[in-house]
Amino acid sequence: AEKLAGIGSFPAGLAHDINNPLQLIMGLAENLAEEKDWKAVHEQAREIVDAVRRTSAICRDLTQYSRKTSARDETVVCLNNRLDEALKIARYAVSFHDITVRKDYEEGSAARGNPDEILHVLVNLITNAVQAMEQGGGRLTLTTERLFDGANVRISDTGCGMESEVLEQIFEPFFTTKEPGKGTGLGLYNVKTIVTKMRGKIDVESRVDHGTTFTISFPSASEGLT
Ligand code: ADP
Ligand code: MG
Repeated sequence: AEKLAGIGSFPAGLAHDINNPLQLIMGLAENLAEEKDWKAVHEQAREIVDAVRRTSAICRDLTQYSRKTSARDETVVCLNNRLDEALKIARYAVSFHDITVRKDYEEGSAARGNPDEILHVLVNLITNAVQAMEQGGGRLTLTTERLFDGANVRISDTGCGMESEVLEQIFEPFFTTKEPGKGTGLGLYNVKTIVTKMRGKIDVESRVDHGTTFTISFPSASEGLT
């Protein structure tokens, strides 16, 4: 959980998603110990298998996500695939209730970098966007743009937005406006560290009560390959 603290509310949301099927498995197994009807035994066994399957799917995605990355591990990364993967992971962390997702991908949008680190950046931005729409829902828009010398990723929400005093501090480590357990204040600090290392840029536009758009500009996938 401490390792994952870098992405904010992940541990709490994840613990919840793993704990639910575990409770179900516990209940079914308790019944099973007393059950005399074979048909019911079979049915409950099948339900246990389903619940285990769901739990292991979560764990599989998580190990993929938290695998130790080495700086050498650089490749050309398809940003559209990474966004889809990030969306899947973010769904374990936060509730998408009343949130519609719109994708506007340009084919061939790519960046040169570490795929796990890029995933980390995108999960953080999506998680924040969804948390900003916790009250009353809204629309999450994921956009990619292929440029002559790189690519842009835009993550836009119709959530609470930020006052300028907040906006000034969002990249500071441990700066958070969220209650304990929901935010660590490390998410955007990590985002900035990774994007800076990749020689990319982050741009933020925000309006209170209207929403926020984060744009990450990744330098050309072929830059430095002279
Ligand atoms: P955390 O999410 O753990 O609070 P972050 O570094 O990810 O830490 O974000 C820092 C703060 O920036 C948040 O607490 C929130 O106040 C603000 N913030 C980030 N993204 C958004 C967003 N999309 N909409 C509104 N506020 C945001
Ligand atoms: Mg965050």
